[in-house]
Amino acid sequence: MPTFVIAGASLAGAKAAETLRDEGFDGQIVLLGTEPERPYERPPLSKGYLLGNDELDSVYVHPEEWYAEHDIDLRMGATVTGIDRAASAVTTSDDSTVHYDKLLLSTGASPRRLSFPGSDRDEVLYLRTTTDSERLRAAFQAAPRVVVAGAGWIGLETTAAARSYGCPVTVLEPQPGALHDQLGPELGAVFADLHRSHGVDFRFGERAVEFRPGMVITSAGAEVPADLFVVGIGAAPNDQLAAAAGLEVDNGVLTDEYLRTSDENIFAAGDVANSFHPLLGRQVRVEHWANALNGGPAAARSMLGQPVSYDRVPYFFSDQYDLGMEYSGYVEPEGYHEVVFRGDVDRREFVAFWLDGDSRVLAGMNVNIWDVLDDVKVLIRSRTPVDADKLADPAAPLADLVS
Ligand SMILES: Cc1cc2nc3c(=O)[nH]c(=O)nc-3n(C[C@H](O)[C@H](O)[C@H](O)COP(=O)(O)OP(=O)(O)OC[C@H]3O[C@@H](n4cnc5c(N)ncnc54)[C@H](O)[C@@H]3O)c2cc1C
Repeated sequence: MPTFVIAGASLAGAKAAETLRDEGFDGQIVLLGTEPERPYERPPLSKGYLLGNDELDSVYVHPEEWYAEHDIDLRMGATVTGIDRAASAVTTSDDSTVHYDKLLLSTGASPRRLSFPGSDRDEVLYLRTTTDSERLRAAFQAAPRVVVAGAGWIGLETTAAARSYGCPVTVLEPQPGALHDQLGPELGAVFADLHRSHGVDFRFGERAVEFRPGMVITSAGAEVPADLFVVGIGAAPNDQLAAAAGLEVDNGVLTDEYLRTSDENIFAAGDVANSFHPLLGRQVRVEHWANALNGGPAAARSMLGQPVSYDRVPYFFSDQYDLGMEYSGYVEPEGYHEVVFRGDVDRREFVAFWLDGDSRVLAGMNVNIWDVLDDVKVLIRSRTPVDADKLADPAAPLADLVS
């Protein structure tokens, strides 16, 4: 009976296991994960769970009994320490060796860490796991003065949560604006204004260089009062295992559009995979919930020998204060020509479109508007030029813009 091993017991890994069973695979499935708890979803960790609105039970991908019911050998606290491709086996931190016929790497990503005087102190916190979220939640309850490093998604969502606990917050960001690398200056300004309207102080163009009890020292020499220092400066793919095993790695494990690595028996999905995207015509590594949710099942189909091109439009969501948004598509910082707004930006009820020089829609973001996502994705997929004036006109149906 074949054995399929999944390294990384989180959203991508658990969803892959689910698909294997749904598709009728009756071999052995071994799901190996470093963390001491069963697979869970991370978005609530910077939102409802951090705010104390969501129960722990609501973050898990499957109920506890699901794994036994589906004959999935879930081993928690078991880190994969090596891949022996010649022997088709992985070794684990509990000194076992597990043979595989097919192996999925869904090891995700880890927060990038700061290293400077004081950065190892207990008041310096990161956010990736349920334990991290619980630690932050407990700390916020005393309404400490918080400094956040990084005005990216994690930094800003954590900032919103900290403000809701009444913490004074200063955000340090070396870039000239919020979400600069993710969205560019136009939308970055919208998010910076949102946070400022909730009393957040931004220091753009500055980074932290030292943490002392009670303060963060910035690269500009400023002393910013801080009882707590939260670091949200991005994440790096956990691709060391793959690299050590001689797989092709470049900012993640390289795969084709079927999520197959350079070894025909090894696959990769979720945050760790840098996959060829047929729509975009290039490799992309996407650190988003939906990519783990859908990439795990896509990889499972390839493991079963039923490969389907994984060409979903990248999708991301965020909630901050009373702003909810969905972003679809893919744009790099210098990779667009203009942003077109449709709706009321001041009231934060609008759709923004990123266009290339030929007026093709590369990406769209709907902010506090909830019935347009499918149309936005159709526009992105069409790759045909659109009339920017009509795009900006809420009276012109989006569906009519695709010829
Ligand atoms: C706080 C937070 C909030 C987020 N909010 C959003 C959001 O609002 N919207 C959105 O779209 N995305 C969001 N994301 C991103 C989203 O959660 C990730 O894209 C998603 O978790 C990726 O899932 P994954 O299964 O690929 O990897 P991960 O979730 O990183 O899981 C990988 C697992 O593999 C384990 N592992 C690593 N190495 C090994 C090894 N050698 N052996 C065994 N196990 C190993 C890790 O411990 C981990 O448990 C958020 C992320 C965080 C951290």
